[in-house]
Amino acid sequence: MTWAIPCPLQPSLAIAGSAERFPVRRIYCVGQNYAAHAREMGSNPDREPPFFFSKPADAMVPDGATVPYPPGTENLHHEVELVVAIGVGGTNISVETALNHVWGYAIGNDLTRRDLQAEAKKIGRPWDMAKGFDLSAPCGDLRPAAATGHPSAGYIRLSVNDKTRQSSDLSDLIWSVPEVIAHLSSTITLAPGDLIFTGTPEGVGALVPGDTCVAEISGLGQLTTHIGSAAS
Ligand code: MN
Repeated sequence: MTWAIPCPLQPSLAIAGSAERFPVRRIYCVGQNYAAHAREMGSNPDREPPFFFSKPADAMVPDGATVPYPPGTENLHHEVELVVAIGVGGTNISVETALNHVWGYAIGNDLTRRDLQAEAKKIGRPWDMAKGFDLSAPCGDLRPAAATGHPSAGYIRLSVNDKTRQSSDLSDLIWSVPEVIAHLSSTITLAPGDLIFTGTPEGVGALVPGDTCVAEISGLGQLTTHIGSAAS
């Protein structure tokens, strides 16, 4: 086969301590999966089943990169999240067997154009341009579950310029990783290479050019992201 144009690069994640890389197919994200964050966004966390949105796989940004301040917003927000990497696909995966589908875990930062999201919510439009813009998915090195186990408790936090903005615990997830996988795979078929950003705790806030974001999750190291000046 010959491509009519140069074939786009396969998006992939670095694997901690390995020369191998993890190919990424799709990025799914859970909305409002920590009670205190749902409340700060004006929702009731008690009554709402998990809901999902997507980011393009090529929106991923590696650890240590600089993301130019994106266009079209005056309110770029950080959201630290536990990222699940799917190694074995499936449909209608049960909560009981869900962890057998997980290859590993990473730290993600679900960069969000909050002003565009607020406008989309208000007028009932999709979130794509608020969530799925270029370079909107910083994601740290992937760690195999064989090494980390399946984290269900431990700190999840993010600082901006060394000041803590978000600080919570993975045990505060409303929907656990197995429950997220079960819900998501009941509406779409998960495949090897899919990532799931599992939602952010409270304390989301604005980033400006010159900021340095450091996200940390217990057992998964750190993810550093610099915000640069607007691309010209
Ligand atoms: Mn998020």
